[in-house]
Amino acid sequence: MKHARATATVLSSLVLFACAPSGPNPEQTADAIYSGGDIVTVNDKMSTAEAVAVKEGRIPAVGSRRDVEKAHKGLATKAVDLAGKTLVPGFLDAHSHYINSLLVANQCKLYAPPSGPGKDVESIVAELRKFAADRKIAKGEMVMAYGYDENVMPNGRLLNRNDLDAAFPDNPVRVDHVSMHGAVMNSLALKKYGISAATKTPPGGIIVRKPGTQEPYGLIMETAFLPVMEKAEAMTPAQEIEWTKAGQMLYAEAGVTTAHEGASHLAQVQTMKRATAAGANVIDVVAYPFITDVDNVLKEIPLSAWGTYDKHFKIGGVKVTMDGSPQGKTAAFTTPYLAGGPGGEKDWRGELTFPQDMANAMVKKVYGMGVPLILHCNGDASIDGFLKAYEFARAGDFTKPWNVTTIHTQFLRKDQIPKFVQYKVRPSFYTLHTYYFAEAHIANRGKDQAAYISPMRDAIDAGLRPTNHTDFVVAPLDQMFMLWSAVNRVSRAGAVIGDDQRVTPLEGLKAMTIWAAEQYGEQDSKGSLEAGKLADLVILDKNPLKIERMAIKDVKVLETIKEGKTVYKR
Ligand SMILES: [Zn+2]
Repeated sequence: MKHARATATVLSSLVLFACAPSGPNPEQTADAIYSGGDIVTVNDKMSTAEAVAVKEGRIPAVGSRRDVEKAHKGLATKAVDLAGKTLVPGFLDAHSHYINSLLVANQCKLYAPPSGPGKDVESIVAELRKFAADRKIAKGEMVMAYGYDENVMPNGRLLNRNDLDAAFPDNPVRVDHVSMHGAVMNSLALKKYGISAATKTPPGGIIVRKPGTQEPYGLIMETAFLPVMEKAEAMTPAQEIEWTKAGQMLYAEAGVTTAHEGASHLAQVQTMKRATAAGANVIDVVAYPFITDVDNVLKEIPLSAWGTYDKHFKIGGVKVTMDGSPQGKTAAFTTPYLAGGPGGEKDWRGELTFPQDMANAMVKKVYGMGVPLILHCNGDASIDGFLKAYEFARAGDFTKPWNVTTIHTQFLRKDQIPKFVQYKVRPSFYTLHTYYFAEAHIANRGKDQAAYISPMRDAIDAGLRPTNHTDFVVAPLDQMFMLWSAVNRVSRAGAVIGDDQRVTPLEGLKAMTIWAAEQYGEQDSKGSLEAGKLADLVILDKNPLKIERMAIKDVKVLETIKEGKTVYKR
């Protein structure tokens, strides 16, 4: 036996000697070696490197070019020249609504600048025309769009049904509002959804009427929009596969190699399960069933199968919601909103989604299941409510590790941070609000509270390892813009929102790579460029750690690589 092995070694070194005098043995030969540009490892022990080797979807070595080539460069190794570009770990999305990407992948993107073209009515109509022409949408077919933001429309000139009718007399057109709580529609779409002059505005709803008439003028919001949402048609099996690929490509374009589905109902889990079985996944997807649907999901995917990827899909844990949104005045606070409630209520503080007793039972149930918990909380009272529920679930015993992440955590009070440290709870922040909603937060909550939203600096200084998220489709899937917002905290109007809570570009990058990998319990395989980890990589046109910090938003994702395979190239 010993002799045979020695002979084999001699033979293989002879073969090697014949063709590659200084090359590695074949088992060490990399599929590719990346070098020739900045390599940001996000590994504190070796923060930069000259070369990264990739073999069978993993990283066998990171280090100096000489060492990596000596040990891993063979005849079949592809030398990838970064040509001065920057290599970083693939981004892990800490919170978004992946399942929505399946739909919006087939829709026209109309976000306001800098995230999209929707700066005024003319640009919106032009983009819709281009989209319909590019996609060859036939007469009679629905044209769908998303990201409409009336806050940026100049001179109060908002999009209405006449604008859409003039451009699309033969197609129903539905332009969804950026909040996902409403849409502007043309006449054919209004007809399709049965909304007319005779439709009464329901309580909590908005139907904007043509001036001086009862005719709907296009915009339908909140409870008036619910019947429209309910009429959404189910995907066909072929669409599930096709749209899964298209949706995941939106993530890949943003450099995301692990996507987050942040509140899944049974039907959505079933869609993801079928698409997975059909081999449609391009990147990894982690889904968190909503607490009220957990028992149904367990019948579909037993607890024993949770937490483990099957063809790039896994159930990551359970989602619980504590309150609503601060800009919608539905987040729960300990002090009143300055501008009153959504219906003009006085002394309005918002309310918990579920009464405290129910929230306690929900959190305890997840603890009992022994799976990670992600919990939506925005207002400081909802964070107090979460801490109460957490303490109730733990019942005095804080020894057992439990992976818990609060999602948004926007109005975290400074005095609440020590509890997060003590309980080892990870806040996931939403620094994009310093850009998109700062003015609304100032009006609702005052300057001081608005300046302290998503206090990432204080959290890191206290020893926490927070993550950062887009909440896509509520904000655009733009990880570099998210990074920019964490580093700069500048509002849409140009105001600085809490400069003392700014983080460094490297800290901002950690919040979307290594710390996000910890959120998924995947820090041993993802989140940094280290030997042994998956070859999930992103090539950027510039190094966000070296450029002027206000320029970070302009950094482009050039290529996204999932386990050694290019899944997106600009
Ligand atoms: Zn969300």
